[in-house]
Amino acid sequence: MKWIKWALLGFLGLVIILLIGAFVPGIWHRLFTYPRYEKEVAELAKLRREPTSQINLSTFRGAMHVHSYLSHDSRGTLVDLVSAAKKVGLDFIFLTDHPRGDIDTLPKGFRGFHDGVLIEPGTEKQGFCAWPLGPAIIDWRLQKDSIAKQVVSHGGLLYYAHSEEPHDWNNPDFQGMEIYNFHTDTKDQSPLPILFDAFVNGKIYRQWVLRQFFDPQTPIIDHWDKLNTSRKIVGFAAIDAHENQNLRARYLPDGRIQWVGNNAKNIDTMEVKFWNKWLFSAPDQSGWVFKFLVDTYESGFNYITNYVMADSLSTASIGKNIKQGHLFIAFKSLGDAKGFQFYGMDKKGHVSGILGDSIRLDQVKSLKALSPLPGRFKLIHNGKTIKTSKEKSYEFVSSEFIEKGTYRIEVELELQGKFIPWIYTNSIVIY
Ligand SMILES: [Zn+2]
Repeated sequence: MKWIKWALLGFLGLVIILLIGAFVPGIWHRLFTYPRYEKEVAELAKLRREPTSQINLSTFRGAMHVHSYLSHDSRGTLVDLVSAAKKVGLDFIFLTDHPRGDIDTLPKGFRGFHDGVLIEPGTEKQGFCAWPLGPAIIDWRLQKDSIAKQVVSHGGLLYYAHSEEPHDWNNPDFQGMEIYNFHTDTKDQSPLPILFDAFVNGKIYRQWVLRQFFDPQTPIIDHWDKLNTSRKIVGFAAIDAHENQNLRARYLPDGRIQWVGNNAKNIDTMEVKFWNKWLFSAPDQSGWVFKFLVDTYESGFNYITNYVMADSLSTASIGKNIKQGHLFIAFKSLGDAKGFQFYGMDKKGHVSGILGDSIRLDQVKSLKALSPLPGRFKLIHNGKTIKTSKEKSYEFVSSEFIEKGTYRIEVELELQGKFIPWIYTNSIVIY
């Protein structure tokens, strides 16, 4: 009997050691790392100086590639989406709900303005993010090429989702691709330590917990640059938000509790008894009485954001300007990038084109970028960094190296003494 006792004690000891090992990083983050990040980001925000606009378009913030309960793997409601967008300051959401069958009829679900947020329905299947921007019927049994042609010829947007996956990059109809996708970024590391971190810090430091997944997506950006040497491929950011890495519960009509786990799957039902009653609170606006959330819409929308320069907040104007590439992306949880501009100037100092535009060589004397936060600018020509600003600054000008080709800007912010990616723009093409 003695050895059983020792074995049990040994096992218990091991479990305790493993648990301590699992939670120590999260506790450390809570006490030291994350408060420091918060402080630095708050100090950075104080340096915000929104530059006066040099161009006659306004900037709108939006999330692209987002799922709602219309997808099999999400339970997100309109209220969830809109309230998160309002909190973060988003102007639009371009949804990409997975179709339930072979025939997709658009618009599906909700569209138009909801509490001031513009919602545009779209679809995601077979590696496409498609936003027809109007009524459309997509038959997913057709060849992918014909689907792409159909969406594009009717004025819609047809972009590649998950750029890490194989696609027909020679397809002449696709117009753009994800240059950052949060889901893609999570694939290269184990989620387990981050889940433990979320247990400790999910409520107050969720942004920083999710940030643990971040790696620069260098191969995808390199590939994007390469594609842009032969034709314009617009880059956008996908949060791929489902709000579905969660454990939640709500009442069934018969009074039992339904547990809902990852990917919005029903996992178990239980009776409410005296011993488990304390777990459940009053239902929230979507009916949940228990919530342990990892990837909320709010944190996703704030993590990576699309900034579109357009004349008005409408499907037509936002759609047209995304297509044009009047778009840059930024990690908004590090700092809001509204007010950032990148443009070409002629000899007289007039703006001759902005990001996403093509400008004739004799119309460009210099390229200029303005930032609302001091950062380090990188000018990238045909995929190669040709100039990096020496110091952190609000402004960047390059009058040298002006020749034919594509030019884009990356801006990095300094955090913890290190420069980290913040903004990626679409390219100006000089021809
Ligand atoms: Zn998706």
